[in-house]
Amino acid sequence: MLKTLQILYHQGKQYIPDLRNAKVPGIFRGRPEISSEKVDEQAMEDVCPTNAILKGPVRIDLGKCTFCGECSRLFPKKISFTTDYKLSTNERTRLLITEEITSQIGLNPDLIRKEIRKLFSGSLKLRQVSAGGDNSTELELNACGNVNFDMGRYGIEFVASPRHADGIVITGPISKNMAEPLEITYEAVPSPKIIILAGTDAISGGIFEGSPALDRTFIEKNHIDLYVPGNPVHPLTFINGVLDLLGINP
Ligand code: SF4
Repeated sequence: MLKTLQILYHQGKQYIPDLRNAKVPGIFRGRPEISSEKVDEQAMEDVCPTNAILKGPVRIDLGKCTFCGECSRLFPKKISFTTDYKLSTNERTRLLITEEITSQIGLNPDLIRKEIRKLFSGSLKLRQVSAGGDNSTELELNACGNVNFDMGRYGIEFVASPRHADGIVITGPISKNMAEPLEITYEAVPSPKIIILAGTDAISGGIFEGSPALDRTFIEKNHIDLYVPGNPVHPLTFINGVLDLLGINP
């Protein structure tokens, strides 16, 4: 008994008390910042493996960025990564980082469907669909519910059946063989239903963008409620994005 108490004391608090203002280690790559430094923009564009860097002027599309850090390693005066993990938004164009963007990305309140906050701010059940994913973002989404992040404290949980869910979270670039299962899963969720894209692969296809092995028709024809950048997504990015969507400010 005494030994158990000693272990518990030694471990300290296992959960993060304030998920809204938690700190992450300095090595974490969050929202990039772009300086006005003059660089060879073509060389910078060429270094990016996913065409996330656009030139004239230099911009970074976080929906395509794999956060590999190669651009900031080769052009440290031009691009630096902050530890800001609040990257989620509900407007695809907001993921385009320009020189002017030096603060949090945030959601566009005009694009949040009214029924989402009315119905789901006290309880949100989600079904995760790995549509050709590599298990990295899936692992991080799993961590959202562990004792450390504990998003269940806000009534946000993953469930096994789409019939018990209020929305789906898609990971992976959506391979052809997952296009139909994704449609079937989405149809099984009762309306109104939320769609969240988690990770670079889900948002743009990532390194697989343009591959004939993908079928991204689902993304093109449905309204996306939340884009969560990251490769993989950090639990704090996902949880804060969902809290913003639901209007929860503990
Ligand atoms: S960190 Fe992003 S923008 Fe920079 S090279 Fe890697 S993928 Fe491209």
